[in-house]
Amino acid sequence: MKKAKHTTARTLSAVGEDAAIAALVKVLGDDGAPALGPGDDCAVVEMGDGKEWQLTSDPIVEGIHFLSEAEPRLIGRKAVGRALSDIAAMGGQPKWVLVNITAPGELALDQLKSIYRGARQLTRKYGATIVGGDLGKGPELALHVFAIGQSPAGSSIRRDGAHPGDILYVTGQLGGSALGRHFAFEPRIREGLWLRKQGGVTAMMDISDGLATDLPRLLKRSGASALLQERAIPIAPAARRLEDGKSPLLHALTDGEDFELVFTVSPERATALEDAWRKAFRLRLTRIGEILAGPGQLLLEDKSGQRQQWTAAGFEHFRS
Ligand SMILES: [Mg+2]
Repeated sequence: MKKAKHTTARTLSAVGEDAAIAALVKVLGDDGAPALGPGDDCAVVEMGDGKEWQLTSDPIVEGIHFLSEAEPRLIGRKAVGRALSDIAAMGGQPKWVLVNITAPGELALDQLKSIYRGARQLTRKYGATIVGGDLGKGPELALHVFAIGQSPAGSSIRRDGAHPGDILYVTGQLGGSALGRHFAFEPRIREGLWLRKQGGVTAMMDISDGLATDLPRLLKRSGASALLQERAIPIAPAARRLEDGKSPLLHALTDGEDFELVFTVSPERATALEDAWRKAFRLRLTRIGEILAGPGQLLLEDKSGQRQQWTAAGFEHFRS
C-alpha cells in the first residue's frame, strides 16, 4: 500500500479508531439503506421474511490480540467469540459464521486445524455453524470472522434507546482480562436472548474496549449521559492481581476484552428484571448507575458522593 504523500496526512493513530470509522462511514453514504447501518454492535438487515439479520465482522491479529505462542485452539475460540459477543449485544441468535485466515507459509497445517477446532467448538455451543471461509498468505497469522445472527423483525436491542432515568446494568465482572479471560470469556448469547425476550431493555452493547471507552459510545448514540457509582462496579479478581500501579477500579473501567454486556432498563421494569435474572442465571448482574439527561458525558460518583467527569485522559473534577 502506498504511504501518504503529504506530511500533513492524518494517520490512523493520530485520529483514533472512532474518528477513522466515522470517516469510512461517510464514504459509504446511504447505500443500501439497511434497517440499521454502521455505529452499533451489528448492522441489521431485513429480507422480508419477518426476521431481521444481524451482521458483524471482527479481525484478530498476531502480536496485537494474541501472541505467537498462544494455544491455537484458544486463538480460534477467541476470534469467533468476539463476533458472537456482538450478536449477543443485539439480543440475537447466532446462525452462520465465516472464518478467514491469513498466515505465513511456514505455519503448520495442524495449527490451522486446531484453530478451526477451537472456533467450531464455540460456535456449536451457541447454536451457530461455520459455513466456510478462506485462506490467504500474510505476514503474520490473522483471523477475520464474519457472523450472522437472527431475531424477529424490529426486535434487536440497539445502542440508541437509553432514556434519562433508565437503570444501568453490567453482567459479570470487569478488568484484568489480560491474565487469561481474553481467551476464556463466554459470549453472553443466552443472557442477550433472555434480555431481549424480557422486554424493558432500552439499549445494550458488549464491552470490548473497556466500560469507560464503550459506554460513552452508547451514550452518544442515545443522546444521554450516565452516572456510575464507583463502589458498585464489579471488579474481577484478576484486576486486583495486576500489580502495575493502576488501581483495580481503573482496570475495571479501562481494560479491554471483558465481553460482558452493559445495558439500560426502564426504571419501572428494573426490579422485576433483576428478580427474574436471579432465577434464570448464576452469572452476576450489577446495577452500576443510571442514565441522565445530557450530552453524552460519563460521570463517576465516589463513596463520599463526589462526582467526577470521565475523559479519555482520565479523571477530571466535575464542577457543578
Ligand atoms: Mg461490540
